[in-house]
Amino acid sequence: MTITFIGHGYVGLVTATIFADLGNKVWVVGHTAEKIENLKKGILPIYEPGLEELVKRNVDAGRLLFTLDYDPAIKDSQVVFIAVGTPPKPTGEADLSVVFEVAEKVGKHLDGYTVVITKSTVPVGTNEKVSEVVSKVKSPKAEFDVASVPEFLREGEAIGDTLHPDRIVIGTQTDKARDILLDLHDPIGGERVLTNIRTAEMIKYAANAFLATKISFANAIAGLSELTGSDGTQVLKGIGLDKRIGSFFLNPGAGYGGSCFPKDVKALISIADQNNYDFTLLKEVEKINKEMILSIVKKSVKMLGGDVRHKKVAVLGLAFKPDTDDMRDAPSITVINELLEKGAKIKSYDPIASNNARNLFKNKEGLTFADDAMSTIKDADLLIIMTEWNEFKELDLNEIKKLMAQPNIVDGRNIFDPEKAKNLGFTYKGVGR
Ligand code: NAD
Repeated sequence: MTITFIGHGYVGLVTATIFADLGNKVWVVGHTAEKIENLKKGILPIYEPGLEELVKRNVDAGRLLFTLDYDPAIKDSQVVFIAVGTPPKPTGEADLSVVFEVAEKVGKHLDGYTVVITKSTVPVGTNEKVSEVVSKVKSPKAEFDVASVPEFLREGEAIGDTLHPDRIVIGTQTDKARDILLDLHDPIGGERVLTNIRTAEMIKYAANAFLATKISFANAIAGLSELTGSDGTQVLKGIGLDKRIGSFFLNPGAGYGGSCFPKDVKALISIADQNNYDFTLLKEVEKINKEMILSIVKKSVKMLGGDVRHKKVAVLGLAFKPDTDDMRDAPSITVINELLEKGAKIKSYDPIASNNARNLFKNKEGLTFADDAMSTIKDADLLIIMTEWNEFKELDLNEIKKLMAQPNIVDGRNIFDPEKAKNLGFTYKGVGR
């Protein structure tokens, strides 16, 4: 099949490349000349493990084509995926301006029959508006159906998730569109959930809101365990083994972040508000998450005797999770900003996300970036772990102690053994234990 993706971010580029690798001819339409030229040369705008080789293989095979032009990509395609960003507006509601902008461009170039799919996460009813936008501008001869195929991949594991998803949700309004999408997804694993468009749109938000709720619940139990002298990690293990609960997403930590959970929780609260439903549960989920991130700051200040002015703080891990360069809504941003505000000097390091972090913090006074973990830690009064990269888990606590000015650790991701740290003379605080 010939298909087009609009957008080459974490979702668009990975999914487009997998469909090319499965033998389809795939056009990827971008809007930045430099990025498109780079993609043609195999230079990717994002980091995702294994993706560079896969893109190169499919570009070389002539199945993956990058372009700025909607023509001939759209004309040539039976299926068009819209995979652009849907960031939050200041009110929390999803900003759909780019979705509608590209839908109009797609509409103008339609030829024959095409299925126009929204893969971006969009509020219930958006596909109906996409349909109106396309109808207004398309040529009278062109026919189309809109469809919703939301994406569930995880950054860092995106290739495996795309090839072996738990499920593929296909929301359509006609049998013709449904059958084309079933055919396209045939080589990919996972249960099929065939439904209408409004239901498919809601499934995506409900899934992310549930996962965020699970994380905030785990963090609330962790916080309470600290107060009661229980071991929160053991408590969560104890409940997660119950199959009705499940152990995924029950690890206490420094709060959720990234480009999906914070914005999708906000957007679902906003969808609820617009439908006169006060989603108080999700408001608490957000509140607990904010408190969780700030608890890392509180623990740090306390460990440094209540005053962090001129204290040297090492922050290991900046990305919102390991194996990605994505800094969007990373908890490290709040922790670093709060500590800088209180007068600390921060040296930080991330194996992949440092460049994105540099752009984000824009030469912020008091913040520097190191080239590796050990030079970050050298002479620090406190070490904070913000992302559980494997290379940090393998660090030798003995070596860390020798390098630090004071042996203090706030372990926001519970990567070190508390007993071992304490036996070596560290003042150590994890999350929930
Ligand atoms: P992203 O920011 O990485 O990518 C967005 C893409 O849209 C970029 O390639 C950008 O160049 C392109 N774009 C922006 N404006 C454009 C325009 N005017 N014309 C053409 N292209 C344009 O975002 P993402 O993380 O890939 O997310 C995309 C959507 O998928 C969002 O709705 C997100 O919520 C959803 N989603 C993301 C993930 C994830 O893990 N990142 C997972 C599931 C769903």
